Amino acid sequence: MTPEFQKEYAKLKRKIKHYHEKLDTKFLGKAYQFSFNAHEGQLRKSGDPYFVHCVEVAKILAEHRFDLTTIVSGLLHDVVEDCDISTHELRDEFGADVATLVDGVTKIGGLKFASKLESDAENFRKMIISMVKDIRVILIKFADRLHNMTTLQYLSPKKQKVIAQETKDVYAPLADRLGMANMKSQLEELAFKFLEPDVYRDLDGRVEDTREDRERYIRRVVKPIRRALLEARIPSRIESRPKSLSSIYHKMVVRNVPFEKIYDLSAIRIIVDDEKCSNSLEQCYRVLGIVHSLFDPFQEKFRDYIAKPRQNGYRSLHTAVFGPGPTRGRKLVEVQIRTKEMHKVAEEGIAAHWKYKAGKSKDSELDKYLVWLRQVVGSITESEPDDVLERFKIQLFNDEIFVFTPKGDLLKLPLGATAIDFAFAVHSDIGLHCIGAKINGKMESLRYQLKSGDSVEILTSPNQKPNPDWIKSVKTSKARSRIKRWLRESFYEQSVHLGEEILNKQFKKEHIKKEDVDLDEIAQSFSFQNSQQLLASIGRGATSIQTVVNRIVPESRSEVKDKSILQRFIKRARGSAKGVRVQGLDNLMINFGRCCQPVPGDSILGFITTGRGIVVHRSDCKNIINLLENPDRKIDVEWDVDRDKHFMVRLQLLGGDRKHFLRDVSESISQTDTNIVSIDMKVEDSVVYSNI
Ligand code: MN
Repeated sequence: MTPEFQKEYAKLKRKIKHYHEKLDTKFLGKAYQFSFNAHEGQLRKSGDPYFVHCVEVAKILAEHRFDLTTIVSGLLHDVVEDCDISTHELRDEFGADVATLVDGVTKIGGLKFASKLESDAENFRKMIISMVKDIRVILIKFADRLHNMTTLQYLSPKKQKVIAQETKDVYAPLADRLGMANMKSQLEELAFKFLEPDVYRDLDGRVEDTREDRERYIRRVVKPIRRALLEARIPSRIESRPKSLSSIYHKMVVRNVPFEKIYDLSAIRIIVDDEKCSNSLEQCYRVLGIVHSLFDPFQEKFRDYIAKPRQNGYRSLHTAVFGPGPTRGRKLVEVQIRTKEMHKVAEEGIAAHWKYKAGKSKDSELDKYLVWLRQVVGSITESEPDDVLERFKIQLFNDEIFVFTPKGDLLKLPLGATAIDFAFAVHSDIGLHCIGAKINGKMESLRYQLKSGDSVEILTSPNQKPNPDWIKSVKTSKARSRIKRWLRESFYEQSVHLGEEILNKQFKKEHIKKEDVDLDEIAQSFSFQNSQQLLASIGRGATSIQTVVNRIVPESRSEVKDKSILQRFIKRARGSAKGVRVQGLDNLMINFGRCCQPVPGDSILGFITTGRGIVVHRSDCKNIINLLENPDRKIDVEWDVDRDKHFMVRLQLLGGDRKHFLRDVSESISQTDTNIVSIDMKVEDSVVYSNI
């Protein structure tokens, strides 16, 4: 080891010892030496030894006061990628945690983002998060990216742009999402510097040129506030905060105004010292009152993020006031008011935790912060605040997955989504005609549950139609509603057709001439818009043909008499044309197999037909074997008869004739709380045939 690196080691150690009293220096030293050896001979583009990068990353992590495991993993973060060292070896040398963290950083490093679409960037960020099992992986990645950004000038201009763009689109917003405002603005500023070098230089110069004036003006605002706060005995400090160049530029572009018009070039922040007062929250509002009494507030700019924190946990009061001076020369000054605790969270977000390792866990502010963290980060097991980060082996966004299309685009789907969901997410036509899926190049069933990172290709056929059973295998509302719509539409056509057949038959029977009837008028009398809708309703069984005929011939002679006893029984048993439930679907055309005449209580199966909607058979019907040749047409159905009520069952009994046969049968039946509605029995050759 060179003397320079020995000196660097001493610096790093000091930095960590500052907040980590019981530091395991042996562990740290071993990692330091290991990484040095592994990267020996490798150079950065700057000409520095590669190991410099590892040390710098570790230093950034130490500045954030992260735990030793994170810092050691930071030292080692590139050894798997660049030095032929396996994660196995790392596990043996440094334990499972370090191996997992380095492995995670290596995996993320392999993902490259190149899309120009903002929505893709959002998904890419989420995919990164969903792929890491330990949030510290992200923290190391931030440090890695931050150091790489500070040495970006040594790369080719083309590479500079690509990396800067990725930093701006993926990593800066990710830091924002995790509440790490400090990290976010550092990354954003560096990205801006390389993406818009000319604008950056120009703005930098202008900010510098106007600095003195601005600072003088700010002092005129700060001075009376400071005096008033002192008088009110509110322990606090005021900082004036220069706006970052990237945010100035952003405002110029978004509001389309020149540099001079960006009033909040600088702003002030008043931080109430919550360690010196117990009611720091109320004090924030008191401060707000004081500021507003000294300077005129600009109402539109007031925001209360204390009462209504931002999703990433940010809390603060925002206001803007007109500063001193003649009316025309008054400038707007942005003011933020928050407690020390809120400030820490605002600057460091998730990272703010480590600061509390020393054990100030009774702090109620911290408890609130943990509550937030649990919400944002997902379910963290109940644990002491001290070791929350040790146990940070959770997944963020664990209700979403991200998969690739064959073109490499990213799609976001809910957890549990299947290839069918994917097909519908790509395009309804693909969903309606999909026959199979290739997941990562391998054929899988359409019901395959996708995982984050899967690459999915859908196979289609123009002849394929949705299977109503798919409803059970989809997670997205898009797929579900599209399948339902298709079913509705296709059943509608079939219902119209069937309704027409029924109508024609009945007309013939009743000697009604079709041309004498204005069917549209009849339809409207039933509150349908047109005859098609009426026919569909007849086909579905929702409107009985008899009521239609009665409407045409009020003094109808029609009375259906020719129904057999059995048919009448079946009709009564089922109660109505419905009586059967098909998973998630209503208003389907349901028919019952004529071959087996199922009634409630029978075990049943549904088959999708082209002309008769869903035909329900008894599951022991002898025709089922033929129907099962088309398993895709099979659909699960169940009886939908009121369970509290009794329903009819038809029993066929065959027995040897003997004394008390009828009495024994009726006794057995009544013991099951069953009521016999009708019974018919005859004896032939000593055999009893009975229908009950
Ligand atoms: Mn690196």
